[in-house]
Amino acid sequence: MKLLIFGPQGSGKGTYASRLAEKFGLKKVTAGDLLRAEIKKGSEIGKIIKPYVEKGELVPKEITVALVKKELEGAENFILDGFPRDIEQAKELDKFVKIDAIIKLNAHEEILLEKISARWICSNPSCDGNYNTADIHKVIEGIEYILPPLLPKKDLICDKCGSKLVQREDDLNIEAIKRRLKIYEEQTKPVIEYYKKKGIPFVEVWMNRPVDVVVEKMVEGLKKIFGNKI
Ligand code: AMP
Repeated sequence: MKLLIFGPQGSGKGTYASRLAEKFGLKKVTAGDLLRAEIKKGSEIGKIIKPYVEKGELVPKEITVALVKKELEGAENFILDGFPRDIEQAKELDKFVKIDAIIKLNAHEEILLEKISARWICSNPSCDGNYNTADIHKVIEGIEYILPPLLPKKDLICDKCGSKLVQREDDLNIEAIKRRLKIYEEQTKPVIEYYKKKGIPFVEVWMNRPVDVVVEKMVEGLKKIFGNKI
């Protein structure tokens, strides 16, 4: 199963990608994590991309494409998160892989802003622990959001590996957040249309309920595409 997951920043894409990866034994490849790992290592690439990531701008295509391509080499079953972000990247991806299905998460901007500023991630780069302190109960344009917080068992400590939890610098910069949401609207949404035109099956879900409920809806959608054997 070769899956892509799309959703605006703050929609919980990373969390859903992890849950589906666990459930179906998929390799999870997250473009943002690959880039942040380079920055943390202080590699040559890391030095080049740091200012882009801090400002919430897309890093040069050649760098992201090369990192993602290397990660996907030989993977038969994967879920790719955060890539492709624009049509150019989608065309590059088409050159080396054929996607079977796409998951798309929907949410209103007001909810995303609340979720992003309340997000805490594990400081250990090889752990994908991800938490959120926002407690949201509201209705927007007929969509009822019931989103309880996702808290660690011990304050500011990752349940999975015991490392400290931190906030991402670009999550604390309101200008960067708005830029990332604008890039999604202007550059990433056309990618979704690009894949729809190609006839790739989509599973489209609102992230308006606790994670387990939304995961269940995704699984149901995937079963309609791949059959009950998955
Ligand atoms: P994310 O973790 O998906 O929110 O991404 C954080 C930042 O990493 C983005 O604001 C971009 O600066 C960079 N980034 C992540 N994925 C890509 C991509 N596919 N192409 C270019 N830049 C990316």
